[in-house]
Amino acid sequence: MAKRLRIAVQKSGRLSEISLSLLEECGIKLKNNGKGTLLASASNFPLDILYLRDDDIPQYVEDGTADLGILGENVVAESGVIVKTLKKLDFGRCRLSLAVPRNVDYQDLNWFNGKRIATSYPNLLKKFMVENHIKAEVHTISGSVEIAPNIGLADAICDLVSSGSTLLSNGLKEVEILFKSEAVMVANQNIDAAGLQILNKLLFRLDAVMTAKNNKYIILNAPNESVSGIISVLPGIKSPTVVPLAAKGWSAIHSVLNEEQFWDVIDDLKSKGAQGILVIPIEKMIV
Ligand code: ATP
Ligand code: ZN
Repeated sequence: MAKRLRIAVQKSGRLSEISLSLLEECGIKLKNNGKGTLLASASNFPLDILYLRDDDIPQYVEDGTADLGILGENVVAESGVIVKTLKKLDFGRCRLSLAVPRNVDYQDLNWFNGKRIATSYPNLLKKFMVENHIKAEVHTISGSVEIAPNIGLADAICDLVSSGSTLLSNGLKEVEILFKSEAVMVANQNIDAAGLQILNKLLFRLDAVMTAKNNKYIILNAPNESVSGIISVLPGIKSPTVVPLAAKGWSAIHSVLNEEQFWDVIDDLKSKGAQGILVIPIEKMIV
């Protein structure tokens, strides 16, 4: 039978949808993508999808039940498994932080000495405590950590934060960041040569999709005498395309811009005479 790879993704939760749409954007079509299935296979790529709780993914990838996995770096680090991190995926950003009741006059880490801290991340918390010479009692609980201080179960918590609104609505404030995380693709250490060939194809597609997301196609019009000034602020992949407009003395300039440079460059372009600026998303980009 032809070689296939198996990738574990979160069954239902914050990462599920984006993980699957990322695979879809890579041109991978899933046959039986119904909820409730454990395994779905791609019809047009040698890949099978295994739907799991995110906490189970590290173990499955380490022991080779799955070849690949998409999950938060926080879960990989907490599990302590040995897997290869292949690629940061630019979503699911969050941080593991210590938070205390809002009314605490918090000065520094010494505050935690002798306190009880509730968390679902005992390993990362204990490591941090050792590194920072804090002696506190760690209470491991599996969910709703943020209510622990209110019900008297703990003095503080160590939990994932993204916007901070959950902390706020529970009367807590974030005081220390232990770990910064985003979704990553991890792989088993011992994928064979046939598997690596499939993996390289998948990584190539992922690169194309992610590079495209970080770039925009830009088209603008300018009087011919402004063209060289505008080109000097537009990098383009090789160099910008300049084409004449039907109106005499005018040109259109096409280029590709990195999302991060975007707003800075736009102001520059306007002041150099650009008009009718269009910014268009790119679907795939191979550089
Ligand atoms: P499962 O049922 O799969 O165990 P879960 O409840 O453990 O799900 P989710 O809450 O869906 O997990 O979070 C999955 C991942 O999303 C986290 O491990 C983390 O990497 C990322 N994440 C991003 N922002 C947040 C946030 N504000 N709170 C929690 N997780 C976040
Ligand atoms: Zn989980």
